[in-house]
Amino acid sequence: MGFHAFVDDAREIKEDNPFESMMSRFDHAAQLLKLDPDLYKVLRVPNREITTYIPVYMDDGHIEVFTGFRVQHNFARGPAKGGIRYAPDVTLDEVRALAAWMTWKCAVVNIPFGGAKGGIICDPSQMSLGELERMTRRYTAELIDFIGPERDVPAPDMNTNEQTMAWIMDTYSMHARHTVTAVVTGKPIDLSGSRGRREATGRGLLFVADEAVAKFGLKKSDTRVVIQGSGNVGGTAARLMHETGYRVIALSDIHGGIYNPRGLDIPDVIAHLEKHRSLEKYPGGEPVSNHELLEIECDVLLPAATENQITSQNVDRIRCRILCEGANGPTTAAADDVLERKGVFVIPDILANAGGVTCSYFEWVQDRMGYFWKEDVVNERLQDIMVASFHDVCKYAECHNVNMRIAAYMLAIDRVAYITRTRGIYA
Ligand code: NAD
Repeated sequence: MGFHAFVDDAREIKEDNPFESMMSRFDHAAQLLKLDPDLYKVLRVPNREITTYIPVYMDDGHIEVFTGFRVQHNFARGPAKGGIRYAPDVTLDEVRALAAWMTWKCAVVNIPFGGAKGGIICDPSQMSLGELERMTRRYTAELIDFIGPERDVPAPDMNTNEQTMAWIMDTYSMHARHTVTAVVTGKPIDLSGSRGRREATGRGLLFVADEAVAKFGLKKSDTRVVIQGSGNVGGTAARLMHETGYRVIALSDIHGGIYNPRGLDIPDVIAHLEKHRSLEKYPGGEPVSNHELLEIECDVLLPAATENQITSQNVDRIRCRILCEGANGPTTAAADDVLERKGVFVIPDILANAGGVTCSYFEWVQDRMGYFWKEDVVNERLQDIMVASFHDVCKYAECHNVNMRIAAYMLAIDRVAYITRTRGIYA
């Protein structure tokens, strides 16, 4: 049976389904690589999907049962790696897409991990700390045979944090009967976390943006940057880019954004955000909606909020030279061709935001050595990997005459396929 037999059965693409978006890029890259049909069949599906029902004593004494997932997409290059998100709208399809993205992301930056992702359908804003702790511990207990430093190493994602990771580490350690720090990353520094981890995704974005800006011969002080989202990723990227001389002209949070063509005073904006928990009423810029913000003319557009922000509906109005994807899946597959036609240079999510998982890899290494690095050592090693990966993808794009996104997927799939082929398929 030929390759197309597997591609042709693809269902009609629903633009806002991240799994469909991921698969259409995977299929395109696999086709260009002329991936062996047997390997294609193996790599396009996850290795394992776990759905677990989690009973939790709520504070008023009744039991609530939550649904949790862990999708382990691939282990060929090493233990699976990926975050856990808590949100009311988590779906298995979303977790599947995110798990596969982790496989490709780890392969793009060439770190020895596979990909996984987890999620629990819950509304953390309506839960007490005690309820969250009990839910996290029971979820961990349900996954005890599937996670571990050599198996699958979770990390924080939306609505989970260092505290969540500390609970997972403790629960796992209680079952193992000894402390196992390397079972999760993104832990507090005093609990064997890594220096620099909190800022690593934003810092990684700065490193790849620097390379792209240099490639186009732009001067930093003339480079206008628009950032959607001011949380861990967007907020850190804004601060670091401002500090290193970029002109950040717009920034947003979930409620909307602020715009100043002369450049925002980012430390002042962040101080306002910390004080008021919102960018609304910030006096040093004019208010814009999140939709308007994406359409501001700029040199670097950095979406760092959530999925499906640049779609077939607004891609015609995007006016940036470089799109540096901080969020996972901010651009739908349907928008890719238009961006290419417009000549936008895309630094795709699986490359651009890989600084976080790269630093998680450093945390896992440090935990296993029991020896912890200074922050400048972490940042220097992060820069080495991000810069080298950026140029690996550029070279791949030039060699194969494809855009950066497809090049990143091709490079990642090629690396995973090579290892799978060499190990052999235990079929
Ligand atoms: P966060 O929760 O710290 O911040 C999210 C920001 O986006 C906030 O400013 C929030 O107000 C805003 N936002 C949320 N929903 C929005 C919406 N619908 N429209 C506009 N703005 C919205 O999250 P984060 O850790 O900064 O993650 C942001 C994105 O980056 C996510 O896609 C995440 O998966 C991805 N990512 C995060 C990391 C990491 O290390 N934190 C690593 C890789 C990728």
